[in-house]
Amino acid sequence: MAERIYLDHAATTPIRQEVLEGMLPFLQGGYGNASSVHMEGRIARRAVEEARRRAARALGADPDEIFFTSGGTESDNWALNSTEGEVVTSCVEHHAVLHTCEALERTGRPVCYLPVDGSGRVSIQSAEEAVSGQTGIVSVMTANNEIGTLEPVRELAQIAHRHHALFHTDAVQAFGHIPVNVEEMNCDLLSLSAHKFGGPKGTGLLYVRRGTRFRRWVQGGEQERRMRAGTENVAGIVGMGLAMELAVRDMEADAAHMRRLRDRLEECILRALPDTLVNGAGAERLPGTLNVSFPGLQGESVLLRLDLAGIAASSGSACTAGSLDPSHVLLAIGRSRREAEASLRLTIGRENTEEEMDRTCSALTEIVPELRSMRA
Ligand code: PLP
Repeated sequence: MAERIYLDHAATTPIRQEVLEGMLPFLQGGYGNASSVHMEGRIARRAVEEARRRAARALGADPDEIFFTSGGTESDNWALNSTEGEVVTSCVEHHAVLHTCEALERTGRPVCYLPVDGSGRVSIQSAEEAVSGQTGIVSVMTANNEIGTLEPVRELAQIAHRHHALFHTDAVQAFGHIPVNVEEMNCDLLSLSAHKFGGPKGTGLLYVRRGTRFRRWVQGGEQERRMRAGTENVAGIVGMGLAMELAVRDMEADAAHMRRLRDRLEECILRALPDTLVNGAGAERLPGTLNVSFPGLQGESVLLRLDLAGIAASSGSACTAGSLDPSHVLLAIGRSRREAEASLRLTIGRENTEEEMDRTCSALTEIVPELRSMRA
Protein backbone atom coordinates (compact mmCIF):
# COMPACT_ATOMS: atom_id res chain seq x y z
CA MET A 1 0.00 0.00 0.00
CA ALA A 2 1.25 3.48 -0.85
CA GLU A 3 2.34 5.70 2.06
CA ARG A 4 -0.26 8.12 3.33
CA ILE A 5 0.09 11.75 2.29
CA TYR A 6 -0.34 14.31 5.08
CA LEU A 7 -1.61 17.67 3.83
CA ASP A 8 -3.08 19.12 7.02
CA HIS A 9 -0.11 20.99 8.48
CA ALA A 10 -2.24 23.98 9.49
CA ALA A 11 -4.06 21.64 11.90
CA THR A 12 -0.84 20.27 13.30
CA THR A 13 2.64 19.21 12.21
CA PRO A 14 4.67 16.08 12.93
CA ILE A 15 7.11 16.60 15.79
CA ARG A 16 10.67 17.09 14.53
CA GLN A 17 13.18 14.38 15.43
CA GLU A 18 15.63 16.85 17.00
CA VAL A 19 12.79 18.26 19.12
CA LEU A 20 11.74 14.82 20.31
CA GLU A 21 15.34 13.95 21.20
CA GLY A 22 15.68 17.18 23.16
CA MET A 23 12.48 16.50 25.09
CA LEU A 24 13.04 12.85 25.95
CA PRO A 25 15.48 13.42 28.85
CA PHE A 26 12.75 15.47 30.57
CA LEU A 27 10.14 12.75 30.09
CA GLN A 28 12.45 10.01 31.32
CA GLY A 29 15.03 10.69 34.04
CA GLY A 30 14.75 14.47 34.28
CA TYR A 31 11.44 14.75 36.10
CA GLY A 32 12.36 17.58 38.49
CA ASN A 33 9.94 20.40 39.25
CA ALA A 34 11.47 23.64 37.95
CA SER A 35 10.49 25.38 41.20
CA SER A 36 12.31 22.92 43.46
CA VAL A 37 15.62 24.03 44.94
CA HIS A 38 17.38 20.65 44.78
CA MET A 39 19.53 19.51 41.89
CA GLU A 40 16.68 17.81 39.99
CA GLY A 41 14.72 21.06 40.22
CA ARG A 42 17.67 23.18 39.16
CA ILE A 43 18.23 21.03 36.07
CA ALA A 44 14.60 21.54 35.05
CA ARG A 45 14.79 25.29 35.76
CA ARG A 46 17.92 25.63 33.62
CA ALA A 47 16.18 23.84 30.76
CA VAL A 48 13.10 26.08 31.00
CA GLU A 49 15.22 29.24 31.02
CA GLU A 50 17.34 28.02 28.12
CA ALA A 51 14.12 27.42 26.16
CA ARG A 52 12.94 30.93 27.07
CA ARG A 53 16.20 32.37 25.68
CA ARG A 54 15.81 30.33 22.49
CA ALA A 55 12.19 31.48 22.08
CA ALA A 56 13.16 35.10 22.70
CA ARG A 57 16.02 34.95 20.19
CA ALA A 58 13.73 33.47 17.54
CA LEU A 59 11.28 36.37 17.95
CA GLY A 60 13.77 39.19 18.40
CA ALA A 61 12.53 39.61 21.99
CA ASP A 62 14.07 39.51 25.46
CA PRO A 63 13.65 36.39 27.60
CA ASP A 64 11.68 38.27 30.26
CA GLU A 65 9.07 39.12 27.61
CA ILE A 66 8.24 35.41 27.02
CA PHE A 67 5.50 33.68 29.04
CA PHE A 68 4.92 29.99 28.38
CA THR A 69 1.30 28.82 28.13
CA SER A 70 -0.61 25.70 27.09
CA GLY A 71 -0.93 26.83 23.46
CA GLY A 72 -2.26 29.40 21.04
CA THR A 73 -5.79 29.29 22.44
CA GLU A 74 -4.68 30.16 25.95
CA SER A 75 -2.32 32.89 24.73
CA ASP A 76 -5.13 34.53 22.74
CA ASN A 77 -7.49 34.32 25.72
CA TRP A 78 -4.85 35.84 27.99
CA ALA A 79 -4.00 38.69 25.64
CA LEU A 80 -7.61 39.78 25.22
CA ASN A 81 -8.61 39.29 28.84
CA SER A 82 -5.64 41.14 30.22
CA THR A 83 -6.51 44.50 28.75
CA GLU A 84 -9.28 47.05 29.16
CA GLY A 85 -11.35 49.19 26.80
CA GLU A 86 -12.85 48.42 23.42
CA VAL A 87 -11.46 45.51 21.39
CA VAL A 88 -10.95 45.98 17.66
CA THR A 89 -10.40 42.71 15.82
CA SER A 90 -11.15 41.19 12.42
CA CYS A 91 -14.01 38.97 11.32
CA VAL A 92 -11.58 36.29 10.04
CA GLU A 93 -9.79 35.53 13.32
CA HIS A 94 -9.49 32.03 14.74
CA HIS A 95 -12.22 31.05 17.18
CA ALA A 96 -9.67 31.36 19.99
CA VAL A 97 -9.98 35.11 19.43
CA LEU A 98 -13.56 35.37 18.15
CA HIS A 99 -15.16 33.31 20.91
CA THR A 100 -13.12 35.19 23.52
CA CYS A 101 -14.42 38.45 22.04
CA GLU A 102 -17.99 37.16 22.19
CA ALA A 103 -17.48 36.28 25.86
CA LEU A 104 -16.08 39.78 26.50
CA GLU A 105 -19.10 41.31 24.77
CA ARG A 106 -21.37 39.41 27.16
CA THR A 107 -19.59 41.15 30.04
CA GLY A 108 -20.35 44.51 28.42
CA ARG A 109 -17.04 45.16 26.68
CA PRO A 110 -17.49 46.68 23.23
CA VAL A 111 -15.93 44.77 20.33
CA CYS A 112 -15.61 45.96 16.75
CA TYR A 113 -15.06 43.40 13.96
CA LEU A 114 -13.16 44.76 10.96
CA PRO A 115 -14.23 43.57 7.49
CA VAL A 116 -11.86 42.03 4.93
CA ASP A 117 -11.59 42.25 1.16
CA GLY A 118 -12.18 39.40 -1.30
CA SER A 119 -8.80 37.86 -0.53
CA GLY A 120 -9.18 38.06 3.25
CA ARG A 121 -7.10 41.17 3.94
CA VAL A 122 -8.25 43.56 6.65
CA SER A 123 -8.99 46.99 5.25
CA ILE A 124 -6.64 49.63 6.65
CA GLN A 125 -9.24 52.29 6.06
CA SER A 126 -11.81 50.48 8.20
CA ALA A 127 -9.19 50.16 10.94
CA GLU A 128 -8.46 53.91 10.71
CA GLU A 129 -12.17 54.56 11.16
CA ALA A 130 -12.73 52.03 13.96
CA VAL A 131 -9.75 52.62 16.26
CA SER A 132 -10.21 55.55 18.64
CA GLY A 133 -9.23 56.80 22.08
CA GLN A 134 -11.73 54.26 23.51
CA THR A 135 -9.83 51.33 22.01
CA GLY A 136 -7.84 49.27 24.50
CA ILE A 137 -6.49 46.62 22.16
CA VAL A 138 -6.36 45.87 18.46
CA SER A 139 -6.00 42.14 17.75
CA VAL A 140 -5.46 40.95 14.18
CA MET A 141 -3.82 37.69 13.15
CA THR A 142 -0.52 37.63 11.24
CA ALA A 143 -1.74 34.96 8.80
CA ASN A 144 -5.10 33.28 8.39
CA ASN A 145 -5.40 29.61 9.32
CA GLU A 146 -7.95 28.74 6.63
CA ILE A 147 -6.83 30.57 3.51
CA GLY A 148 -3.31 31.71 4.47
CA THR A 149 -3.80 35.42 3.78
CA LEU A 150 -1.16 37.66 5.38
CA GLU A 151 -2.58 40.64 7.27
CA PRO A 152 -1.03 44.14 7.28
CA VAL A 153 0.04 43.86 10.92
CA ARG A 154 2.67 46.61 10.88
CA GLU A 155 0.23 49.18 9.61
CA LEU A 156 -2.42 48.02 12.07
CA ALA A 157 0.06 48.24 14.96
CA GLN A 158 0.84 51.80 13.91
CA ILE A 159 -2.84 52.73 13.94
CA ALA A 160 -3.31 51.13 17.38
CA HIS A 161 -0.31 52.94 18.82
CA ARG A 162 -1.39 56.29 17.40
CA HIS A 163 -4.45 55.94 19.68
CA HIS A 164 -2.42 54.56 22.63
CA ALA A 165 -4.02 51.13 22.25
CA LEU A 166 -2.10 47.86 22.47
CA PHE A 167 -1.55 45.69 19.41
CA HIS A 168 -1.84 41.90 19.68
CA THR A 169 -1.28 39.46 16.87
CA ASP A 170 -2.05 35.75 16.69
CA ALA A 171 1.03 34.52 14.81
CA VAL A 172 0.19 30.84 15.36
CA GLN A 173 0.06 30.03 11.63
CA ALA A 174 2.72 32.47 10.50
CA PHE A 175 5.69 31.45 12.62
CA GLY A 176 8.16 29.28 10.72
CA HIS A 177 6.64 30.28 7.36
CA ILE A 178 7.30 34.02 7.22
CA PRO A 179 9.57 36.24 9.35
CA VAL A 180 7.98 36.89 12.75
CA ASN A 181 9.96 39.53 14.62
CA VAL A 182 8.31 41.51 17.39
CA GLU A 183 10.40 44.63 16.68
CA GLU A 184 9.66 44.67 12.97
CA MET A 185 6.00 43.95 13.57
CA ASN A 186 5.91 46.47 16.40
CA CYS A 187 3.46 44.37 18.40
CA ASP A 188 2.90 44.49 22.15
CA LEU A 189 1.50 40.98 22.49
CA LEU A 190 1.94 37.94 20.24
CA SER A 191 0.63 34.35 20.48
CA LEU A 192 2.35 31.16 19.31
CA SER A 193 1.59 27.43 19.52
CA ALA A 194 4.48 24.92 19.33
CA HIS A 195 2.73 22.09 17.48
CA LYS A 196 2.22 24.22 14.38
CA PHE A 197 5.98 24.20 13.62
CA GLY A 198 7.33 20.80 14.62
CA GLY A 199 6.99 21.18 18.39
CA PRO A 200 4.77 19.36 20.90
CA LYS A 201 1.04 19.92 21.37
CA GLY A 202 -0.17 21.70 24.49
CA THR A 203 2.67 24.24 24.68
CA GLY A 204 2.58 27.84 23.52
CA LEU A 205 3.70 31.27 24.52
CA LEU A 206 2.55 34.82 24.87
CA TYR A 207 5.11 37.51 24.08
CA VAL A 208 4.44 40.61 26.18
CA ARG A 209 6.48 43.73 25.44
CA ARG A 210 8.32 44.96 28.51
CA GLY A 211 6.39 47.70 30.26
CA THR A 212 2.97 46.61 28.92
CA ARG A 213 0.24 46.76 31.54
CA PHE A 214 -1.49 43.40 31.54
CA ARG A 215 -3.22 41.18 34.07
CA ARG A 216 -2.10 38.06 35.83
CA TRP A 217 -3.85 35.17 34.16
CA VAL A 218 -3.83 31.99 36.25
CA GLN A 219 -3.85 32.32 40.03
CA GLY A 220 -1.73 30.01 42.13
CA GLY A 221 2.01 29.60 42.51
CA GLU A 222 4.83 31.89 41.50
CA GLN A 223 5.58 30.44 38.07
CA GLU A 224 6.09 32.60 34.98
CA ARG A 225 7.03 35.58 37.11
CA ARG A 226 3.75 35.28 39.03
CA MET A 227 1.68 35.98 35.92
CA ARG A 228 0.65 32.44 34.97
CA ALA A 229 0.71 29.90 37.76
CA GLY A 230 1.11 26.12 37.46
CA THR A 231 4.03 23.69 37.43
CA GLU A 232 5.90 24.19 34.18
CA ASN A 233 5.51 21.65 31.38
CA VAL A 234 9.30 21.25 31.23
CA ALA A 235 9.49 18.78 28.34
CA GLY A 236 6.94 20.77 26.31
CA ILE A 237 8.75 24.05 26.93
CA VAL A 238 12.11 22.50 26.00
CA GLY A 239 10.51 21.15 22.81
CA MET A 240 9.03 24.53 21.97
CA GLY A 241 12.38 26.31 22.36
CA LEU A 242 14.12 23.82 20.11
CA ALA A 243 11.33 23.85 17.52
CA MET A 244 11.47 27.65 17.36
CA GLU A 245 15.22 27.67 16.84
CA LEU A 246 14.97 25.07 14.06
CA ALA A 247 12.00 26.79 12.42
CA VAL A 248 13.90 30.07 12.17
CA ARG A 249 17.08 28.35 10.95
CA ASP A 250 15.22 26.46 8.19
CA MET A 251 12.52 28.99 7.33
CA GLU A 252 13.85 30.30 4.05
CA ALA A 253 14.53 26.89 2.53
CA ASP A 254 11.32 25.36 3.91
CA ALA A 255 9.15 28.24 2.72
CA ALA A 256 10.64 28.07 -0.78
CA HIS A 257 10.06 24.30 -0.88
CA MET A 258 6.46 24.61 0.31
CA ARG A 259 5.68 27.42 -2.10
CA ARG A 260 7.02 25.37 -5.01
CA LEU A 261 4.87 22.40 -4.04
CA ARG A 262 1.78 24.52 -3.36
CA ASP A 263 2.06 26.27 -6.72
CA ARG A 264 2.58 22.93 -8.47
CA LEU A 265 -0.53 21.47 -6.82
CA GLU A 266 -2.60 24.59 -7.46
CA GLU A 267 -1.64 24.72 -11.14
CA CYS A 268 -2.32 21.03 -11.58
CA ILE A 269 -5.78 21.25 -9.96
CA LEU A 270 -6.74 24.32 -12.01
CA ARG A 271 -5.60 22.63 -15.21
CA ALA A 272 -7.55 19.43 -14.48
CA LEU A 273 -10.60 21.07 -12.88
CA PRO A 274 -10.79 24.59 -14.35
CA ASP A 275 -13.95 25.64 -12.49
CA THR A 276 -12.13 25.32 -9.13
CA LEU A 277 -12.12 28.50 -7.04
CA VAL A 278 -8.94 29.37 -5.17
CA ASN A 279 -9.85 31.03 -1.87
CA GLY A 280 -7.47 33.80 -0.85
CA ALA A 281 -5.99 34.08 -4.35
CA GLY A 282 -4.68 37.51 -5.18
CA ALA A 283 -3.36 38.16 -1.68
CA GLU A 284 0.05 37.45 -0.27
CA ARG A 285 -0.46 34.00 1.26
CA LEU A 286 1.40 31.58 3.48
CA PRO A 287 3.65 29.50 1.22
CA GLY A 288 2.12 26.13 2.11
CA THR A 289 -1.60 26.93 2.12
CA LEU A 290 -4.03 26.05 -0.65
CA ASN A 291 -7.76 26.50 -0.05
CA VAL A 292 -10.03 25.62 -2.95
CA SER A 293 -13.78 25.28 -3.56
CA PHE A 294 -15.21 22.70 -5.97
CA PRO A 295 -18.56 24.26 -6.91
CA GLY A 296 -21.53 21.93 -6.52
CA LEU A 297 -19.81 19.58 -4.05
CA GLN A 298 -19.51 19.34 -0.27
CA GLY A 299 -15.90 19.80 0.85
CA GLU A 300 -16.62 17.19 3.50
CA SER A 301 -17.37 14.51 0.84
CA VAL A 302 -14.15 15.30 -1.02
CA LEU A 303 -12.26 15.14 2.27
CA LEU A 304 -13.66 11.70 3.12
CA ARG A 305 -12.87 10.32 -0.34
CA LEU A 306 -9.34 11.70 -0.15
CA ASP A 307 -8.92 10.06 3.25
CA LEU A 308 -9.92 6.72 1.76
CA ALA A 309 -7.36 7.33 -0.99
CA GLY A 310 -4.68 7.84 1.70
CA ILE A 311 -4.58 11.64 1.72
CA ALA A 312 -5.23 13.73 4.85
CA ALA A 313 -6.73 17.17 4.17
CA SER A 314 -9.24 19.44 5.87
CA SER A 315 -12.47 21.19 5.01
CA GLY A 316 -12.18 24.58 6.66
CA SER A 317 -10.35 24.72 9.98
CA ALA A 318 -9.87 21.62 12.09
CA CYS A 319 -11.76 23.20 14.97
CA THR A 320 -14.94 23.37 12.91
CA ALA A 321 -14.50 19.99 11.25
CA GLY A 322 -17.51 17.85 12.04
CA SER A 323 -19.77 20.90 12.21
CA LEU A 324 -21.54 21.70 8.99
CA ASP A 325 -21.51 25.46 9.50
CA PRO A 326 -19.81 27.06 6.52
CA SER A 327 -16.52 28.74 7.33
CA HIS A 328 -16.84 32.31 8.67
CA VAL A 329 -13.65 33.17 6.80
CA LEU A 330 -14.98 32.08 3.41
CA LEU A 331 -18.27 33.91 3.99
CA ALA A 332 -16.30 37.02 5.01
CA ILE A 333 -14.37 37.03 1.71
CA GLY A 334 -17.66 36.98 -0.17
CA ARG A 335 -18.08 33.31 -0.99
CA SER A 336 -21.69 32.10 -1.07
CA ARG A 337 -22.81 29.50 1.48
CA ARG A 338 -22.63 26.80 -1.19
CA GLU A 339 -19.15 27.83 -2.32
CA ALA A 340 -17.98 27.92 1.29
CA GLU A 341 -19.39 24.43 1.91
CA ALA A 342 -17.52 23.21 -1.17
CA SER A 343 -14.11 24.10 0.25
CA LEU A 344 -11.09 21.96 0.88
CA ARG A 345 -7.91 23.07 2.66
CA LEU A 346 -4.60 21.47 1.69
CA THR A 347 -1.67 22.63 3.82
CA ILE A 348 1.83 21.55 2.89
CA GLY A 349 4.75 20.87 5.20
CA ARG A 350 8.52 20.65 4.95
CA GLU A 351 8.49 16.86 4.53
CA ASN A 352 6.07 16.73 1.56
CA THR A 353 7.35 15.94 -1.95
CA GLU A 354 6.53 16.80 -5.57
CA GLU A 355 5.42 13.24 -6.14
CA GLU A 356 2.87 13.61 -3.34
CA MET A 357 1.47 16.75 -4.99
CA ASP A 358 1.06 14.86 -8.26
CA ARG A 359 -0.65 11.93 -6.52
CA THR A 360 -3.00 14.32 -4.72
CA CYS A 361 -3.85 16.11 -7.94
CA SER A 362 -4.55 12.79 -9.70
CA ALA A 363 -6.77 11.67 -6.81
CA LEU A 364 -8.78 14.91 -6.98
CA THR A 365 -9.02 14.62 -10.75
CA GLU A 366 -10.81 11.30 -10.24
CA ILE A 367 -12.81 12.08 -7.10
CA VAL A 368 -14.31 15.46 -8.03
CA PRO A 369 -15.93 14.44 -11.37
CA GLU A 370 -17.09 11.16 -9.80
CA LEU A 371 -18.82 12.94 -6.90
CA ARG A 372 -20.34 15.39 -9.38
CA SER A 373 -21.73 12.59 -11.53
CA MET A 374 -23.29 11.02 -8.44
CA ARG A 375 -25.08 14.30 -7.68
CA ALA A 376 -26.30 14.74 -11.26
N1 PLP B 1 -4.84 30.65 16.36
C1 PLP B 1 -4.74 30.16 15.12
C2 PLP B 1 -4.60 31.10 13.97
C3 PLP B 1 -4.77 28.77 14.91
O1 PLP B 1 -4.68 28.29 13.66
C4 PLP B 1 -4.90 27.92 16.02
C5 PLP B 1 -4.98 26.44 15.86
O2 PLP B 1 -5.54 25.94 14.91
C6 PLP B 1 -4.97 28.48 17.31
C7 PLP B 1 -4.94 29.86 17.43
C8 PLP B 1 -5.11 27.65 18.53
O3 PLP B 1 -3.95 26.94 18.80
P1 PLP B 1 -4.00 25.69 19.80
O4 PLP B 1 -5.11 24.79 19.32
O5 PLP B 1 -2.68 25.07 19.70
O6 PLP B 1 -4.32 26.22 21.16
